[in-house]
Amino acid sequence: MRGGASSPAADLALKMPPVDAFIALGSNLGDPLAQIAAACDALAHLPHTHLVCASKRYVNPPMGPQDQPDYVNAVVLLSTQLAPLALLDALQALEQAAGRFATRHWGERVLDLDILTYGSQTIQTERLTIPHVGMADRRFVLAPWAEIAPQAQLPDGRHIADLLDAAPNHPLQVMSAVCWDNSDVKATD
Ligand code: AMP
Repeated sequence: MRGGASSPAADLALKMPPVDAFIALGSNLGDPLAQIAAACDALAHLPHTHLVCASKRYVNPPMGPQDQPDYVNAVVLLSTQLAPLALLDALQALEQAAGRFATRHWGERVLDLDILTYGSQTIQTERLTIPHVGMADRRFVLAPWAEIAPQAQLPDGRHIADLLDAAPNHPLQVMSAVCWDNSDVKATD
């Protein structure tokens, strides 16, 4: 899986300074561990983007309908020159390439990729809300995020570690290895 296709928005990327963007990954269909690893690999190969670090994998029961498999979740930090919408386009292309299809609300998915934060920007458009809605009380997002960036803050100054402390209880099982082998990181530009 590769997300290397260029677009007019991506072509403008080199004019922008790199921005730290935290991305949440989730999967509960097919082979979630393999899909999360393949998605990390694809994220690391996006144009004008580096994958800086990746969390461990977290296994947890579904948040929505309960008649679906457990999820595997992780968070990665990207350093990217892609503009927010170009980054969203790239993530959605990766979801499609992984075989994602439409299901019920909070239903099962082959691959889910969400932009949690993009630098310290707050964005509210038809296609994009940043910080991502709902992540402030989702333990399966906050735990891997705090693992790789204990000092991380939202644009309004709230600390991820504090949000994690206050988040509703949700059973999480953390796996021992990171979701992607950081030693594979290569520059793409
Ligand atoms: P989901 O089913 O959770 O993957 O939601 C997909 C929809 O959320 C798409 O229509 C996106 O345009 C929209 N969306 C809004 N904000 C974000 C975000 N921060 N990251 C990813 N998708 C987003």
